[in-house]
Amino acid sequence: MTVAWLGIGANLGDARQTLKDAVVCLAQQHTLTVVAKSSLYRTAPIDAGGDDYYNCVVKLETGLDVHALLGLCQRVEHHFGRERPFCNAPRTLDIDILLYGDAIIEEPELVVPHPRMRVRAFALVPLVEIDPELVIPGHGPASAFLAAVADQRIEKVKPLCQCLGIAPAPDMPDSGNCR
Ligand code: AMP
Repeated sequence: MTVAWLGIGANLGDARQTLKDAVVCLAQQHTLTVVAKSSLYRTAPIDAGGDDYYNCVVKLETGLDVHALLGLCQRVEHHFGRERPFCNAPRTLDIDILLYGDAIIEEPELVVPHPRMRVRAFALVPLVEIDPELVIPGHGPASAFLAAVADQRIEKVKPLCQCLGIAPAPDMPDSGNCR
């Protein structure tokens, strides 16, 4: 089994719902186990126009090799209607492989660790939320790159129960987010 980390983002349609549905879709795959999910974040688009993005990161364990995992991510994107009309176009769903174990891969169709993760708050902040000690293979602690992205707007979306001022039941995942 390999521990992999996926970055998930969306900024078209009901982006928050799409993110949640995508995580459920991933969790339903028998070829992987989602072991952790970050909070949901609202972030400013970078090098692109359009609405704010919603982003999260999931940590998973999988027996899939990295190319099969990329294929799965692309099938899930396609399922949720991802189109690529132009570079950095708004997207119903984008799933990136951020890390795949200790692998360092530089192929035309696959670069891992993801080449932009060290300069994107929407990848670093949720990663470090899940694992403050996380190391990016070949680059060092993920937390060391946070200062350089401090100017990128990112805000955690409060869980619904927090907005309502109630404590979540310990055995119930939070079922929504504040507007
Ligand atoms: P994007 O438009 O950001 O979804 O990029 C999609 C393209 O990036 C695909 O052609 C992938 O083959 C390529 N790619 C390269 N490295 C990665 C990675 N680590 N995770 C996901 N896609 C990747």
